[in-house]
Amino acid sequence: MTKQSNQNQKSSSTIDLMESYPCQLRHLNLSCYGCCGVKFSNQEDVESDIWLNTQDLNKIRKNEIDKLSNDEKLQKFRDRFANDEVSPSGVCLNLTEFGNGCTACPLHPLVNEIVDKKETVAPNSDLRVGYCDTKYECDTLKSWELMQLSQREKFVEFVKSKNYSNYDYSMKNDSGELIKEFISKKEIVE
Ligand code: SF4
Ligand code: SF4
Repeated sequence: MTKQSNQNQKSSSTIDLMESYPCQLRHLNLSCYGCCGVKFSNQEDVESDIWLNTQDLNKIRKNEIDKLSNDEKLQKFRDRFANDEVSPSGVCLNLTEFGNGCTACPLHPLVNEIVDKKETVAPNSDLRVGYCDTKYECDTLKSWELMQLSQREKFVEFVKSKNYSNYDYSMKNDSGELIKEFISKKEIVE
């Protein structure tokens, strides 16, 4: 994984939980990619494939010979595989590692809300369209949207107590197991 730091990293006290999503819990340096793949194999292979994606993105971004615009470079990165292909581990071929536990999609038009522009510059339009279900919401996200601030704070503390890797956090969100356990603690109304 890249050792580059995420310059956008903020302390938990400065992050507005009501403006955040469980997909990127920057308070805990935790990212979820549970919906960015199919039939994930295992942590080691998934992380290895994300690392390969990251190498590909950096190679294309830093190539100054081809004179492509930022959006064209991102399209070139995205189009190195067909839109229905995934990596051998099942993870999406666009998912990229940006340091400090931040794994994110460089095709997302809001990626610079969590990743510094030195690492990647967001496209002018949503380049994920046609490559994944951009409207997808897992059970964790659906519940999160109904939570008050105090409930979100409890959820973050709950996740913190688990000491998850990005992989574990992603799998627990994808399966719905995590939010089910949290709800069973009666912290939020179903
Ligand atoms: S699985 Fe849920 S929490 Fe994770 S990235 Fe997808 S929508 Fe967000
Ligand atoms: S295109 Fe981006 S958001 Fe969509 S599945 Fe791939 S990494 Fe995730």
